[in-house]
Amino acid sequence: MSNYHIKHLEEYWQVYRKSVRNPENFWEEIAEEHFLWRKKWDKVLSWDFSKPEVKWFEGAKLNITENCLDRHLATRADKTAILFEPNNPDEESQHITYRELHERVSRFANVLKSQGIDKGDRVCVYLPMIPELAVAILACARIGAIHSVVFAGFSSTALATRINDCDCETIICSDGSYRGKKTIDLKSIVDEALESCPGIKKSFVVKRTHTDVVMKEGRDIWLQPLLDNASPTCKATVMDAEDPLFVLYTSGSTGKPKGMVHTTAGYMVYTAYSFKNVFQYRENDIYWCTADIGWITGHSYIVYGPLANGATSVMFEGVPSYPDYGRFWEIVEKHKVTQFYTAPTAIRALAKENISYVDKYDLSSLKVLGTVGEPINEEAWHWYNDNVGKKNSPIADTWFQTETGGIMISPIPYSTPTIPTYATLPLPGIQLALMDENGKEIKGNQVEGRLTIKYPWPSMARSIYGDHERYKNTYFNSFENMYFTGDGALRDAVGYYRITGRVDDVIIISGHNLGTAPIEDAINEHPAVAESAIVGFPHDIKGNALYGYITLKEAGEGRDHDNLRKEINQLIADRIGAIAKLDKIQFTQGLPKTRSGKIMRRILRKIACNDTSNLGDISTLLNPEVVKDVMAKAII
Ligand code: ATP
Ligand code: MG
Repeated sequence: MSNYHIKHLEEYWQVYRKSVRNPENFWEEIAEEHFLWRKKWDKVLSWDFSKPEVKWFEGAKLNITENCLDRHLATRADKTAILFEPNNPDEESQHITYRELHERVSRFANVLKSQGIDKGDRVCVYLPMIPELAVAILACARIGAIHSVVFAGFSSTALATRINDCDCETIICSDGSYRGKKTIDLKSIVDEALESCPGIKKSFVVKRTHTDVVMKEGRDIWLQPLLDNASPTCKATVMDAEDPLFVLYTSGSTGKPKGMVHTTAGYMVYTAYSFKNVFQYRENDIYWCTADIGWITGHSYIVYGPLANGATSVMFEGVPSYPDYGRFWEIVEKHKVTQFYTAPTAIRALAKENISYVDKYDLSSLKVLGTVGEPINEEAWHWYNDNVGKKNSPIADTWFQTETGGIMISPIPYSTPTIPTYATLPLPGIQLALMDENGKEIKGNQVEGRLTIKYPWPSMARSIYGDHERYKNTYFNSFENMYFTGDGALRDAVGYYRITGRVDDVIIISGHNLGTAPIEDAINEHPAVAESAIVGFPHDIKGNALYGYITLKEAGEGRDHDNLRKEINQLIADRIGAIAKLDKIQFTQGLPKTRSGKIMRRILRKIACNDTSNLGDISTLLNPEVVKDVMAKAII
């Protein structure tokens, strides 16, 4: 038996040990028992991190959509696969069953095929969070085309760069999109982008907002009439285990986004397995991940992981603040959501608002909460735990990356005791190591270092699209025979992991290495503080000193800034030590963030160092106006 579902801590350890003792055997059992294969593999794993080359389930044949759709038809045809919740609360929710989803994907796949799209072709998908987005990517997977989803909040330049980088010849977009009160002219953004995308031959347009758009003759095609005429059945193209499934760009927090290439079989096995365990998914649960499908979290934990388990996955089109700050909780109550998975940035934003927005709703259906994307600070963790989970729903603080495809470190809810700010333990099959600057592994507990992974796991990215050399240099050149994550972490006395921030952001002060997360965590404990980011700047005596950018809560705004500065530094001194006190504190209206909601410290570092002539790649920057404001008020 494959231990597909872990139910208590002892079992976790038992399974974990087994997975490390014989990883091939461990994953082979899971793959055999829980998935549908056209042909089984010849070899479970071959790998060489020096090239780097990794192959899982080599020789196997399958189609991931048969695993996500067809095989459920016998037992779950009338079960809701996708529960669509529109932006406007007055518009009806849609319950799309497995049978309907299967049919819609088949029609869409037939359209793509009849329009000349083949296995291996790259298709850019630039759609809002509407069912067609999930249908489009599954339709690509059905015929073996490689989808490259670009978050529909990106600008035309960012979209064009990704289309060109990925050599896409086709794009699937919509006339417009709804986000809160706004209607966005997506089609015009696409038109502008396509002016610099000579490779694009066809653009399929989904109707969502019914706004007037310009349709370019010979290039733009309305999708609906084609779907109406297409056959509702489509034979799935048989894929090799290692055929690419999709390309997806990283968030660009630390530099130019990387187009990660993910392949089929290993990705499927790992996302399904991790979904089942991290969310303790059971047959009748209503699972909701608030991410956009444009990020890896959405790919793995809105679409592939849940559907591979036959789950009901909620897809939300809107934003947490519309029509008011209670929207998330209203949806939880309405659909009796059992698992709720969101990002620390959303939690911090909602925690700033009146608690009555939460208290108004019945959240008793919730069993498991999750967070992902950034370190969650202690105050936000408690707010989430107390007000949303009512101290009854374990919080899975899940650490992973676009590159890792699936969650690598997380508590198993109801098994692993949780501690705020700790992602806790690696999932089965994930072999972590902490390394020092000299390339030596730091063994034992109560240590801190660079987080690396020693052994391949099924859902790891296999390359950067079009730039295998960059893939090698970024992840495999720092430490011999290891995958380097770029993040720092500490391992506490019991072996729990806490992510301390990006290694690039580590600040060395008087010879001490300081990670950003624990210091920001201390600052955020101050009742007047909503959010903070710290960076280093050169200092004559200490080598570096700390510069803090702090956004206050509404309640804190009237307070005397010098007093606040003193209190914040006192808090840091108490919690971490005098060494981590901030030399400069700038109060800001907001912090520069990526469009996925992560703080972009590299921009803040440049401002602190008074080196703003070139801010680097800012194509994923959400709020340029904030950068201007921060620059104008910088303390130099
Ligand atoms: P880029 O690689 O382009 O700089 P990015 O790293 O932000 O962008 P993603 O792959 O979306 O792109 O994000 C992965 C990173 O997010 C991780 O490396 C880590 O720094 C951070 N992260 C994700 N989840 C957590 C978590 N639970 N705790 C702490 N950090 C997290
Ligand atoms: Mg990254």
